[in-house]
Amino acid sequence: FNNELQRSEKMEIISELAASVAHEVRNPLQVTRGFLQLLMGKAKAAEREYLDLALVELDRASGIITDFLTFAKPEFGKDTVLQISDEFKHIEGILAPLAHLHGGKITVDIPEDLAVRGNSSKFKQAFINIIKNSIEALQEEGVIQIRCYQKQGRVYIHVVDNGEGMGEDVLARLGEPYFSNKTKGTGLGLMVTFRIIEAMDGSIQFTSKKGVGTDAVITLPAAYE
Ligand code: ADP
Ligand code: MG
Repeated sequence: FNNELQRSEKMEIISELAASVAHEVRNPLQVTRGFLQLLMGKAKAAEREYLDLALVELDRASGIITDFLTFAKPEFGKDTVLQISDEFKHIEGILAPLAHLHGGKITVDIPEDLAVRGNSSKFKQAFINIIKNSIEALQEEGVIQIRCYQKQGRVYIHVVDNGEGMGEDVLARLGEPYFSNKTKGTGLGLMVTFRIIEAMDGSIQFTSKKGVGTDAVITLPAAYE
């Protein structure tokens, strides 16, 4: 029976399963976090050390779910035509508050008629992971600009930030599992993004300069000529 299942069917079953699990696990994690924080208020210094560790590990678990399954809903699975401006309205709604928290803002400039084929949840996950990195890299007067255009049958999406930027050493390792320069990083965000973009027959390229910022350009096959 196992051999009769095509690889793509297996993948679909796995991702549906992961989606359901993520959905169910997120809430108990948040509840546990709340109770730990409550205890933190009453704990002695020695106990706080353990509570701190527990919170860090809990946040790591949540971080992994966020990098893989922010939009996971059981029963998604299907590819459709995605209006890029609509997808980014959703993405912007979710990430604008985080950008504000980091003292920055997001601007989106996407023509209404651009579209690609794919799965909406995965598309959004891929870009959330890129834009979240931009937000986390922001310094003073942080701005993240998202621009989009179509050329010769392909759609180009730029995510440009004026954050801390990266040197060649970091650029060369992007997408490597568990590669992170953050204390609370999972090092899984871009690996997930690269896989999604590749599966959509797309490409992704980063240009960056330390202290100046980063330009990520993603190209995908356009849904319409
Ligand atoms: P994480 O965010 O958990 O560290 P990622 O795979 O999302 O893992 O990113 C890997 C690393 O790439 C980050 O830790 C960071 O050093 C670097 N990086 C990615 N995007 C940017 C960016 N826009 N500006 C600066 N550094 C970045
Ligand atoms: Mg990240």
